Amino acid sequence: MSHIVVLGSTNMDLVAFVEKAPQRGETVTGREFRTIPGGKGANQAVAAARAGATVSMIGAVGNDSFGTRLRSTLERAGVDTGRLRTTEGDSGTAHIVVDDDGGGNAIVVIPAANGTVDHLTPGDEELIASADALLLQLEIPLAAVLAGALAARAHGVRTILTPAPAQPLPVDLLNATDLLLPNEHEVATLTGRTDPRSAALALLEEVPEVVVTLGAAGCLYAARGAEPLTVPAPEVTAVDTTGAGDTFAGALAVALAEGRPMPDALAWAAAASALSVQRPGASESMPHRPEIDAQYTS
Ligand code: ADP
Repeated sequence: MSHIVVLGSTNMDLVAFVEKAPQRGETVTGREFRTIPGGKGANQAVAAARAGATVSMIGAVGNDSFGTRLRSTLERAGVDTGRLRTTEGDSGTAHIVVDDDGGGNAIVVIPAANGTVDHLTPGDEELIASADALLLQLEIPLAAVLAGALAARAHGVRTILTPAPAQPLPVDLLNATDLLLPNEHEVATLTGRTDPRSAALALLEEVPEVVVTLGAAGCLYAARGAEPLTVPAPEVTAVDTTGAGDTFAGALAVALAEGRPMPDALAWAAAASALSVQRPGASESMPHRPEIDAQYTS
């Protein structure tokens, strides 16, 4: 079994479902409230575990009740949390208002415990050194993301970075990354270019491989010295695309860690995320390996 390490965030999503989101100064009565374990790091860890890898998570939760639940959610998915620290104070939270017209949600993220993940311990580095791939995102301090990428590079471990939330990145982080995995919005923020192909080609100056995910249109793969390749997504009826990118990242890491060639690995990741968008939720909608294999071959 391949071993994937995820260095990143855990968040409790606090979601208020309302007919119409309140304007500034207004109070509205909502329909439902849900607490949903998330965070891009934790979501990618669950995706990779369900896709069939041994997964270890490096990060931090608070010593509050959310922290207990975030940890147990990961453990139930089979993720090793031995290096998920518990810090004094709150867990990370995301405060989300979802309204019926679906015109884009307003979200406030409070990093809390995630903000304490600003360095790696020797034990963290040892764990990264033993991995087949390292998954990174940007919901913890950049210093730790860079330290993770450098530790992976020093030990020949492939690094896959999802540059979300979207922001411009320092060149040293891009240079320490093996595969950059932005969506269309993130690649535009990174490069100032709206055409994904031209953005991906520009990024090849800093990173050897780039995969831009394109929602229902699939993804675009660019590597130095080769013609860019488009991999379509299976045609499905999407009901909730939350977590599609994280499902894609987790499954791609597993396939590459198992030594599958890139076009194969991308098609398998597209099969995994096509399954996830047909069901509501983020991590709870992520598929298990047998389902991915069945979707991949059908
Ligand atoms: P993010 O979730 O980060 O915004 P995307 O929307 O690009 O990322 O989705 C990631 C991947 O999920 C896509 O490359 C695609 O394979 C799959 N996907 C997303 N939306 C759909 C859809 N409507 N139908 C099929 N696959 C989808």
